[in-house]
Amino acid sequence: MSIVVNEVVKSYGQQQALKGVSFSISSGEIVGFLGPNGAGKSTMMKIITGLLPQSSGEVRVCDINSSDYNESFRRKIGYLPEHNPLYLDMYVREYLLMVAQLYSLSDRRDRVSDMVKMIGLSAEQNKKIGALSKGYRQRVGLAQSLIHDPEVLILDEPTTGLDPNQILEIRELIKTVGQHKTVMLSTHIMQEVEAICERVMILNRGELVLDHPSTDLSLLRASNDLVTVELEFSAPADIASLQGIDGVVKVEQSDVATYQVQAKGDVRRQLFDYAVQNKLYILAMNRSEHNLEHLFHDLTRES
Ligand code: ADP
Ligand code: MG
Repeated sequence: MSIVVNEVVKSYGQQQALKGVSFSISSGEIVGFLGPNGAGKSTMMKIITGLLPQSSGEVRVCDINSSDYNESFRRKIGYLPEHNPLYLDMYVREYLLMVAQLYSLSDRRDRVSDMVKMIGLSAEQNKKIGALSKGYRQRVGLAQSLIHDPEVLILDEPTTGLDPNQILEIRELIKTVGQHKTVMLSTHIMQEVEAICERVMILNRGELVLDHPSTDLSLLRASNDLVTVELEFSAPADIASLQGIDGVVKVEQSDVATYQVQAKGDVRRQLFDYAVQNKLYILAMNRSEHNLEHLFHDLTRES
């Protein structure tokens, strides 16, 4: 196992940011770590990197206990913190050389050159970091996290604040560098997980509410049998009576006469009967796949 997290609790004063979180990640997995703001994602990631001590529980990375926090532990992990703090007055090469020195790499200059090439920083390597666009700053952050060729890569919201083109570029880069590493990536963008990751975990208020081995949620859908139907009538319907239909769990109105009906099982026939009985025409009816976005919403909304 690359990462083993066992019953980790973290309290900030009175507040429990992590309430006993456990999971393990095998070598080579790319895991998406989802959750709303304040769920505890960054806290969990800092604890995995050994930078923040947990209140209780255990973390092992490549079989080394994080409480050891020795050189060989640090060598195993590359970490891109949230908001990617950088020295804006340093030059790209100079900064990467400094990071290489912190890891006591012997072949520093070569390593920095390799990194610059691999991460696509060749044209920027002699500029000040402060002069770079956000996308290129993020590349510098990635280069920093990879310079010591770690086995495990922890990326905290690596695409936040980037424009759509930069997002795609950084995603491609993560996919490429992640091919031979264990990657844990936090985000609040569902599509990001679908685009990059092979496994998804959702954290909510310090608790792991989902750990699914694939971003294909069809297995999960089958297990709880929830179906969402998008429905448009010719005139507004009565929500309470829609909710009264056998199997219907929830009805949300999305436009004047358009509804999202969530049900246990496929209720399209019952909805047709309902329309006939109430002299409504059905203008559109679609059974929508229960996607990650729905699931995230269901698992993390305020109750
Ligand atoms: P996320 O990264 O999912 O947005 P965080 O791990 O940053 O969540 O925060 C989890 C919770 O812990 C939040 O309620 C946050 O306010 C709190 N928190 C985080 N860091 C600190 C800190 N250094 N001191 C006190 N509370 C903190
Ligand atoms: Mg965070």
